[in-house]
Amino acid sequence: MRRCWLYIAFVIGALGVALPSVAQRKYTLEELPAYPIDTLNTANPRVKIITFTNNTWEYYLTDYDEVLRSDVFQNNWVTNQVFAYRDVKISDIPESMEIELVASLADYHAPVLGRVSSRYGPRGRGMHKGIDIGLPTGEPIYATFEGKVRYARYNSGGYGYLVILRHPNGLETYYGHLCKLNVDVNDYVVAGQVIGYGGNTGRSRGPHLHFEVRYADLTFDPERIIDFSTGELKWQNFVLERGYFNVSSKLTEALEEDEAEDMSDMFVDKQGNTLSSEEIVSNLEKAASKPRTTVNDAIYYKVKSGDNLSKIAAKYGTTVGAICRLNGIKSSTPIRIGQRLRVK
Ligand SMILES: [Zn+2]
Repeated sequence: MRRCWLYIAFVIGALGVALPSVAQRKYTLEELPAYPIDTLNTANPRVKIITFTNNTWEYYLTDYDEVLRSDVFQNNWVTNQVFAYRDVKISDIPESMEIELVASLADYHAPVLGRVSSRYGPRGRGMHKGIDIGLPTGEPIYATFEGKVRYARYNSGGYGYLVILRHPNGLETYYGHLCKLNVDVNDYVVAGQVIGYGGNTGRSRGPHLHFEVRYADLTFDPERIIDFSTGELKWQNFVLERGYFNVSSKLTEALEEDEAEDMSDMFVDKQGNTLSSEEIVSNLEKAASKPRTTVNDAIYYKVKSGDNLSKIAAKYGTTVGAICRLNGIKSSTPIRIGQRLRVK
């Protein structure tokens, strides 16, 4: 009799295991017990990888306390604003300085590989402060160099979800339009660590990474240090000249991704001679302080090869009729390359 009960209990037990509520409960990776099981070396002697029992892993940085105590991470540490060096003027920066980008190749990783859709430089009425790289939404974005996360949040000035990393050599890298962040402010990351995922947030037309390199809030062309066609770093030690900086890059924290009114008159005089950087800054400051009227809000577009009115209308979310009315033309009027059309 006793054996019989045992048998019944066994059968019920066996059935119990097969019951969905017990057996089909799925555990997420995070819920599984995670105990460190091993430490692996990487190409960088200061970076180790710890593996855990739940098949996850984490970077582990050795002896970086000293790095974190250095002035670069102590001074001008601002985590809620894009700019951190408002007290630094361009004239405070040496004419030329040698910057060690990496000690070894393992200290660098391309932010993302993809087609460059827009280069650094003057764009319309503003300035494209970085380089745009097209990508599918969700593509991992990597830290180019090791560093501390200074900013990681949604930016309403046009960057969308933005990560700013400050590196031990004083450079900062910006990663804009992300769909998701993977780091928090004050985290310390290594080169190649995923800091977020590419997307289309903020002032952006289509998913891309907006990538900037700055020193003391001043931008210079990221292509001076990275070859974006191969993703390779160009220099181990880089000579940063004061002349590389864009003098207007500190005037606004906002991101100017859109093509807009031509502002070339800010940079040259009536005879077409290039103005000095002081004169340009003064012109730009004057323009920025002017109250914006509806006239200033007009957006102009310079016609490029292959354009037609419906293409331009689609680009700016307007209609051919509306563009014709703004410019006093007919939809049959031929447009020519270089012509300035008001689109808004
Ligand atoms: Zn951009």
